[in-house]
Amino acid sequence: TSQPTNPGGTTNKAGRTAGDVPDHLQVTGVRKNFGSTEVLKGVDLAVAQGRTTAIVGPSGSGKTTLLRLIAGFSAPDSGRIALAGEEVAGQSTWVPAHKRSVGYVAQDGALFPHLSVGANIAFGLPLRGKAASLRVGELLEMVSMDASYAKRRPHQLSGGQQQRVALARALARQPELMLLDEPFSALDAGLRVATRRAVAQTLEQAGVTTILVTHDQAEALSFADQVAVMRDGKLAQIGSPFVVYTRPSDRATAEFLGDAV
Ligand code: ADP
Repeated sequence: TSQPTNPGGTTNKAGRTAGDVPDHLQVTGVRKNFGSTEVLKGVDLAVAQGRTTAIVGPSGSGKTTLLRLIAGFSAPDSGRIALAGEEVAGQSTWVPAHKRSVGYVAQDGALFPHLSVGANIAFGLPLRGKAASLRVGELLEMVSMDASYAKRRPHQLSGGQQQRVALARALARQPELMLLDEPFSALDAGLRVATRRAVAQTLEQAGVTTILVTHDQAEALSFADQVAVMRDGKLAQIGSPFVVYTRPSDRATAEFLGDAV
């Protein structure tokens, strides 16, 4: 991977500066408690249209909770979330998950067990018959699987194959924002790299804004235009991969990044 041309700034892989494109996602002062536990303690995050952000940080720091709020699976206690300039969660606003153009892939895929692979992927597609099966075949190819898998049931697949089907299902709906919560961690090393590359290429070509939660430092570096470091319910640092890894804002971040491989 090439380094950004101005590592101190916010230039992305294509060499554009962040000022050229509007924010697709704006998270402002978001807080979330579970019972008496403060899980998110005031999170601010902006992601420009079509860019990719990797969120890294220790287990339990609140990464999944933040993604689920952005997806609309739960509501913040306070603060504001806006997508493409439209407030989707705020003091008096609530847009439910199915009305947000957001795809979400969790660690364990969570396919519908009673549906075939093809029906899982085609779920929610406005296509039927031949057109649907052609599209399913294309989507399977994107995740390095043969079209013949469409007829199988999820339980006949390995964990890694199920995860790739979950990615294909999320891609099928062509969301404008894709949220990926460690989607590659169940895959073995070789497949992980190939799948990651295919998914990154698909998302980039379609101009999909992407947020990836990952423990894998190489994945964050290769996938993302910006890296956000989460710690203890807050974003400790946000910057280009180069800046975050070469100039961590504090010692705890440096130690975490050093351990993250
Ligand atoms: P991460 O993704 O960084 O590992 P999470 O967002 O999953 O962190 O969790 C952050 C904290 O919030 C953890 O302490 C977790 O136990 C707690 N938590 C997450 N979801 C719930 C929930 N639905 N109910 C109660 N506690 C929760």
